[in-house]
Amino acid sequence: MTGDELREKYLIFFEQKGHKVIPSSSLIPHGDPTLLLTSAGMVQFKPYFTGEGVPPSPRLASCQKCFRTTDIGSVGNFKHLTFFEMLGNFSIGDYFKKEAIAWAWEFVLDRLKIPKEKLWITIFLDDDESFGYWREIGVSAERIVRCGEKDNFWGPAGETGPCGPCSEIHYDFGEQLSCGPDCSPSCGCGRFLEIWNLVFTEYYQDAQKKRTPLPKKNIDTGMGLERTATVIQGKRSFYDTDLFTLIVQRVSQLTGRKYGENEKTDKAMRIVAEHGRAVAFLITDGVIPSNEGRGYVLRRILRRAALFGRTLGLNKPFLGEVAKEVISKMGHVYPELVKRRDPVLKVIGTEEARFDETLSTGLSLLNQIMEQAKDRANKKISGEEIFKLYDTYGFPSELTAEMAADSDLSVDLDGFEAEMERQRERARAAHKFISPESILSQEAFGKLKVIKSTEFVGYKRTRCKAKVLGLVVDGKPQEAASEGEQVEVVLDSTPFYAEMGGQVADTGEIIGKQGKIAVSDVVWANGEIIVHIGKVVEGAVFIGERVSAEVDRPRRLDIARNHTATHLLHAALRQVLGSHVHQAGSLVAPDRFRFDFTFEAPVLKEELAQIQRIVNEGIRRNLPVTKKEMPYTQAVAEGAMALFGEKYGDVVRTVKVGGARSMVSFEVCGGTHVDRTGDIGFFQIVGEGSIGSGMRRIEAVTGRGAEKLIEDRFFTLEKIAHELQVPAANVESKLASTLEELDSERKRAIALERQLSKETAESLLSQVESVRGVSVLAVSASVSNMDALRHMGDVLREKLGSGVIVLAAVWDDKPNFLAMVTPDLVAKGLNAGDIVKKVAQATGGSGGGRPQLGQGGGKDVDKLEQALKLVAQLVAEKL
Ligand code: ATP
Ligand code: MG
Repeated sequence: MTGDELREKYLIFFEQKGHKVIPSSSLIPHGDPTLLLTSAGMVQFKPYFTGEGVPPSPRLASCQKCFRTTDIGSVGNFKHLTFFEMLGNFSIGDYFKKEAIAWAWEFVLDRLKIPKEKLWITIFLDDDESFGYWREIGVSAERIVRCGEKDNFWGPAGETGPCGPCSEIHYDFGEQLSCGPDCSPSCGCGRFLEIWNLVFTEYYQDAQKKRTPLPKKNIDTGMGLERTATVIQGKRSFYDTDLFTLIVQRVSQLTGRKYGENEKTDKAMRIVAEHGRAVAFLITDGVIPSNEGRGYVLRRILRRAALFGRTLGLNKPFLGEVAKEVISKMGHVYPELVKRRDPVLKVIGTEEARFDETLSTGLSLLNQIMEQAKDRANKKISGEEIFKLYDTYGFPSELTAEMAADSDLSVDLDGFEAEMERQRERARAAHKFISPESILSQEAFGKLKVIKSTEFVGYKRTRCKAKVLGLVVDGKPQEAASEGEQVEVVLDSTPFYAEMGGQVADTGEIIGKQGKIAVSDVVWANGEIIVHIGKVVEGAVFIGERVSAEVDRPRRLDIARNHTATHLLHAALRQVLGSHVHQAGSLVAPDRFRFDFTFEAPVLKEELAQIQRIVNEGIRRNLPVTKKEMPYTQAVAEGAMALFGEKYGDVVRTVKVGGARSMVSFEVCGGTHVDRTGDIGFFQIVGEGSIGSGMRRIEAVTGRGAEKLIEDRFFTLEKIAHELQVPAANVESKLASTLEELDSERKRAIALERQLSKETAESLLSQVESVRGVSVLAVSASVSNMDALRHMGDVLREKLGSGVIVLAAVWDDKPNFLAMVTPDLVAKGLNAGDIVKKVAQATGGSGGGRPQLGQGGGKDVDKLEQALKLVAQLVAEKL
């Protein structure tokens, strides 16, 4: 049975048992910014398990693409892959242990025909219920092994959430592999291979780790496709199954080594094959190499593969070739591989080339470091050394650790972390961060610290009455600030939005009884206090006085239009380019906005046009924009998008565009927005481009900005139409014909000038003089560009056969020179470059070139004739 058949059989089997088959979700988990990569089938169903979402059916089945970072180091062995496919059946409060166990057994025995004698079962220590069900279907008691919490209890890693015991099915490769009398499925000796895990989530674990029974119990199972294929194909490892053989063969071809000859090179080949496969899938789903998060995981395995490729004698990039094999082998199951083939190969190529540049030097440094470490008492590679390899040569620290371990050395990873922290410190120092101390003096901040926090009322209002709590001038707290002074103001409440999440700060005025402050910037001081930065433009403002804080409202509305438009754009991008597109940053200003996102290929013109249409359609539908505060976990469970790596508080503000049935976008966002999308008016993209590897930026305008842009463009078009004397609609064709005309006129002019220069050249020949037997011609000609001058020089040289030619011509009010010396005279020591240099210098300019040809430019036209007279003299000197 092939891997493909196994996958299909599994899904059909559970479909027949009433399960709805759900396609694999992306390796980038949707709506769970805390999770790096999808690591199990249940990841996409998590909200159903926690009760925060409603499943399309209480019984689900899937074949899920998974990636496990924790298993990177084990790849090359026979148990672990980084990327693998997990088959799974799920019950959301529907069937429980009895059915899960019976069906698993039926599938394994009846459909896969695995002999019963080859199978062992593990259960959780006190799970007698499961024990009973396994016995009921005919498993003998000695084949059921009870295991502890570590192996057979599945729970949220130290967190709160659903949890429960599990039961696993293991395959026995035979007693000959046994590690001793205590050998059992729970030991890692290699005799047993776990193929299927059935998890029974029946408890809820609270913060105190107390477990209470869930009202609705769930089933979550995971069967490794590759492991199971290994077993049913009678093989010992993944790499001998049909899922891998072609990929391994390709590696073998590339390296010119046979698989199965030498354990060391075999292992390296397995790593290259496995990582090549994983890399193709990760990039397909939108992961881009970087030094953080998912991108770092990708970088790590890509570099690990490159390194092992080196040990196999591959000295140039090769992973793209492995990926091609993966795409052609698996593209029919995962069409996204085929769809994204070009960008995938491009990303691999770039990243591999980048590492390749430093790989050799890095490797020799590593070897040197390892040699030194061997002589040390502690046999340890220092944090600094690991850091240097990482920082200068791009060696992931895990890779250095692995190489070190191979040579029985250890590594100081804490020391490495300390170096990394130091580097971050340096980066921070180089970056100007707004801290309360940098806005307010220590003293001022000390005094203001009594203020707990500023109440922000700006979501609802753009003006409010407030009390002045702090005034700081020149870093010192003051009782008053008067006209002309720069001031920082703290109020008890404010409608002013302080710069955050890419949205720029509001501007406006703070008006007191006896004075007025123009606010030009607003910042968060310590995450609690809002500081208004501005200038007293009238009278004076006093501590304790009641003032009116008034935001520049039209400007605020412009910003809100742009901010809501970024959400619509984000949704449209995902719709058109794929859901792996993620926001990477944004700037929301009143006159325009920009939106940065991860995407590894240029966005096509048609795609861009489609994105723009979708956004404008969203505007015309005039959808409601609702803002709501809720616990972060609830927001994410309900599908709100949040930025990966961003720290959020327990309670977050969410912004939803559209109603229950017309929802277009749902994001965690603290910005200010319009109330209905129609308020945005119109959306126009003004630019799209790359801002670094795998990152793109779209710039756009809305509302008044868009109106102004279109007005300006229209006006320009009208002007051009007027100049061209055609209606605006005909500008394009008129312009094309005009350019064509211009082009043929230009060609005609060149031909004419050539003809002319040929005739002139002939007439100039009469001015040749003889200097010590050498023909010298130094004259000025009336041509208008260097090309023509050259052409004239060529004609003259041909006519002369042997000689020195210096031609001068004036254009743009400056003299220009061309010098030529025939080869026979170059042999006698004459040099066109030298001659033209001196001649040009004589007119206040400069020049130079090769012995046969030189050119120069002068400054003073009046000195031109004088300069040409120099030529005969210069020639005479050399002969
Ligand atoms: P192990 O202890 O062998 O690492 P696990 O307990 O981590 O396995 P589960 O989390 O229960 O495995 O995952 C369910 C199934 O997925 C396993 O029974 C196995 O068939 C498969 N699986 C898990 N990790 C891997 C991996 N790294 N490579 C291939 N298959 C895997
Ligand atoms: Mg594991």
